Amino acid sequence: MTSGRLESPLRVLIVEDEAPIRRFLRTALHARGYQVDEAETLGAARATCTGRPPDVLLLDLGLPDGDGIELVREVRGWSTLPIVVLSARGEEAQKVLALDAGADDYLTKPFGVPELLARMRAALRKRAPKATEMPVAEFLGADGRGFAVDLAKRRCRRVENGVATDVKLTPTEFRLLAVLVHHAGKVLTHTFLLREVWGPNHDGDVAYLRVYMGQLRQKLELEPARPRWLCTEPGVGYRLQVDESP
Ligand code: CA
Repeated sequence: MTSGRLESPLRVLIVEDEAPIRRFLRTALHARGYQVDEAETLGAARATCTGRPPDVLLLDLGLPDGDGIELVREVRGWSTLPIVVLSARGEEAQKVLALDAGADDYLTKPFGVPELLARMRAALRKRAPKATEMPVAEFLGADGRGFAVDLAKRRCRRVENGVATDVKLTPTEFRLLAVLVHHAGKVLTHTFLLREVWGPNHDGDVAYLRVYMGQLRQKLELEPARPRWLCTEPGVGYRLQVDESP
């Protein structure tokens, strides 16, 4: 990454066949200083992506000439550029397929500007130094409560009022937490988490995941029933939340 690259505005490609949604996205993103390109079809999106690749791709799944998932697969063949899927309610299965194909995140229509900007920030965070490249990854709220994880030393501590207390995690709990920390802010599907933590033969065992996520919440969350960090993405998977107010 060159210094000049950082100064130029980030380019977002909006792939969406519904004009009102394109207009809404364009207005919101222009106001935040993003440069915006638009495509109404898969074909047009493909041409723009290969000709002039954007910094971020906002991608509708239901397009007149095909499925957005095709574009996710194609782009992932040559690029790690952030992809945020725009999905309609009821497209749960499609959304999960898109995430497993390599999309970074999703927004469910209708969504508001704060949610859009939060997802953009999370997707673009990959450009910044990763939490895992820092000695200790901290997840602290404005009230000073949260937890800190030292992946190298395999140590986890709960933080409250500036006081850190060691938390004992089992090896599996730690492995699950480490995967979440590596991908902090990003939605992770059940399949992805199961493969990362238990291996390829357990990708159907969602019950395992639920049990271990419950244990992590008991140990790390102030109110395990209303998690602030270890959030459920209904029908999709989990996300280690990093933005306090999306
Ligand atoms: Ca559509």
